Amino acid sequence: MPSTFTFLGTGTSAGIPIIACDCPVCQSDDPRDQRTRASALITYTDTSNTTRNIFIDTSPDLRQQVLRHDLQTLDAIVYTHYHADHVFGLDDVRRFNAVMDRPIDIYAERSMLDWLHQTFNYIFDPHKNTNRSFIAQLTPNEVHEFQPFELFGKPWLPVRLMHGRLPILGFRIDNLAYCTDCSSLDPQTYTALENLDTLIIDALRYRHHPTHLTVDQALNIIDHLQPKKAYLTHIAHDISHADLEAKLPTTVHIAYDGLQIPLT
Ligand SMILES: [Zn+2]
Ligand SMILES: [Zn+2]
Ligand SMILES: [Zn+2]
Repeated sequence: MPSTFTFLGTGTSAGIPIIACDCPVCQSDDPRDQRTRASALITYTDTSNTTRNIFIDTSPDLRQQVLRHDLQTLDAIVYTHYHADHVFGLDDVRRFNAVMDRPIDIYAERSMLDWLHQTFNYIFDPHKNTNRSFIAQLTPNEVHEFQPFELFGKPWLPVRLMHGRLPILGFRIDNLAYCTDCSSLDPQTYTALENLDTLIIDALRYRHHPTHLTVDQALNIIDHLQPKKAYLTHIAHDISHADLEAKLPTTVHIAYDGLQIPLT
């Protein structure tokens, strides 16, 4: 099986269509304008030729995303940050525990692991649950900025992104980097993201936003880093897929839910 990056969800925190919105994008017939909340799937084979499925984030739309791609197994989850639109599908991974009959490793910074423990205390402190219930089994692993960790034979490099004032993580895997939810990159991240084949980067909308890149800001970073290809993600309903796609440079595209690209 070829190594693949799958855009499970490419929408901003409200998803598209947004609840009770009659704007042209929320009403669009183009399936690429329907966006679930941001998360990604990376698939590759390990040294024993076993296929491994790794999630980046667990969006509230995780169940729908998993069913769409008919996923049968989940080997690890890597987290960018603790915002609700990137986390609150976590409960549904319990089904993978049941199918595979084993815990799932999760990878995040210490602050994120602490937040998960507090928020999902029924998962991380199951002995305190009043009733025995069907809960996820997760094994926490701490990661650190700019210190690569190995997942099934591939190094993953956490890079520092600034999401407004909140420091969060992006990841470089081989020559692909995933940088959702950012308004700027740490200076060291520019060095870490040299010579990419594929850069995936936040481009929320055209107008300024305090915690996300605009389309123009994302294009400036792409111009600086010069990846062979780039994809914009975490898109708000201000952006019509077809309209923006037509205006972008030939090496830049807007992602859409379900899009799969080679992991190189
Ligand atoms: Zn987000
Ligand atoms: Zn709308
Ligand atoms: Zn966020």
